Amino acid sequence: MAAGDTVLKPDFAASRKHFIFTDEHEALRESIRSFVIKELAPHAEEWEETTFPDSVFKRMGELGFLGLDKPEEYGGQGGDYYSSLVLAEEMVHSRSGGLAMGVAVQTDMAMPPILAFGTEEQKREWAAPAIAGDTILCLGITEPDAGSDVAGIKTRAVRDGDEYVINGSKTYITNGHRAHVIVLVTKTDPEAGYDGFTLFLVPMDAPGVIREKKLEKLGMHASDTALLAFQDVRVPSTAVLGQVGKGFYHIMWELQGERLIGAAGCVAGAQRVFEQTLRYATERTAFGRQIGKFQVNRHKFAEMATKIEAARQLVYTTAWRFQNGEYPVREISMAKLYSARVAVEVADECIQIHGGAGYMKEYGVERVWRDMRLNRIGAGTDEIMLDVIGRSYGL
Ligand SMILES: Cc1cc2nc3c(=O)[nH]c(=O)nc-3n(C[C@H](O)[C@H](O)[C@H](O)COP(=O)(O)OP(=O)(O)OC[C@H]3O[C@@H](n4cnc5c(N)ncnc54)[C@H](O)[C@@H]3O)c2cc1C
Repeated sequence: MAAGDTVLKPDFAASRKHFIFTDEHEALRESIRSFVIKELAPHAEEWEETTFPDSVFKRMGELGFLGLDKPEEYGGQGGDYYSSLVLAEEMVHSRSGGLAMGVAVQTDMAMPPILAFGTEEQKREWAAPAIAGDTILCLGITEPDAGSDVAGIKTRAVRDGDEYVINGSKTYITNGHRAHVIVLVTKTDPEAGYDGFTLFLVPMDAPGVIREKKLEKLGMHASDTALLAFQDVRVPSTAVLGQVGKGFYHIMWELQGERLIGAAGCVAGAQRVFEQTLRYATERTAFGRQIGKFQVNRHKFAEMATKIEAARQLVYTTAWRFQNGEYPVREISMAKLYSARVAVEVADECIQIHGGAGYMKEYGVERVWRDMRLNRIGAGTDEIMLDVIGRSYGL
């Protein structure tokens, strides 16, 4: 273009596809979004009361959505990591954080360790049916006396001939009431420090597995959250997932994927409630003006949009590193920390912009805040993320 030919004007409505996504990702995005809006979102309020039904897994399995980035030999779609990000982003249109979390536990928390560290038999027995939506998974790290301090867990697995005997308890376990199998973090050698942990795949119908109670929560009401007890649970040595003694490192690897997917969900959730609030701010009037036209509110939108965009770029760039074989623990921790904070700040500000309506259930904004609030705690608290980042500089 020759200088002077055309006047460049900003085009704020132009589509802004990020460079990590191809046209196929965008087609996938459209098909997931239309499924989520048509088949999941209409039940959001009902599932807050009842938790979402297991049939959601079956339906999503049929559609191929539980195995987007999983190998084709186990029924997956064989896509890249970005396809998993697309799922996490589009699930926010269900308007149900609890549902999105229950699905993410299946696809991005419990399943990756099975596929990464499992034997061929374990992958066929547990990952393939989970991808099909026939089997539901959960992940057991946290205990009543050890959450952030993963190394402080007490659940013990003791070898007895060809078997292991497991005793202990786990708490806050998402999908814990509905799951068929748990990826369980145990201590096999209390004297061996970080080399004393082992993962197991424990069927939830094994004698001695007790689903003690359904826990009630501030948000994420559509998900089920369990307190579990393991009393002399016997499993064969073939139930060991990965290497005996390497469970701590295996679970730390798992947490990286979980944190990045969680961060993507936070950004998308923040974007959705931002858009909902933007519409509200153009419809609602006070003192003879749209409330969005008050400078104070215009600036609130500008602040929110800037933070959401910054969080998005951090998540995408980090995902690019992850997809390209790096193990970017520092950046994942930053993305998780920042996105969760932004999501909670945005949800809070959106309640404020809605005024009294923001406090009412009817608008769903208060639910976004309650659901999002978990992200500053689950999968590693803000404080733990700060510590990981700080320590990465040798401090
Ligand atoms: C709804 C929900 C669903 C969950 N789902 C699962 C699941 O499916 N599977 C699972 O295993 N877990 C799950 N969790 C557990 C979650 O990951 C933990 O709650 C989280 O890791 C924090 O552990 P904690 O609750 O024991 O807090 P604590 O570790 O007791 O922390 C309490 C406070 O102390 C701070 N703190 C602790 N250590 C430090 C430190 N070294 N430096 C500075 N501050 C520190 C924390 O940041 C926090 O503010 C879930 C939790 C919730 C609420």
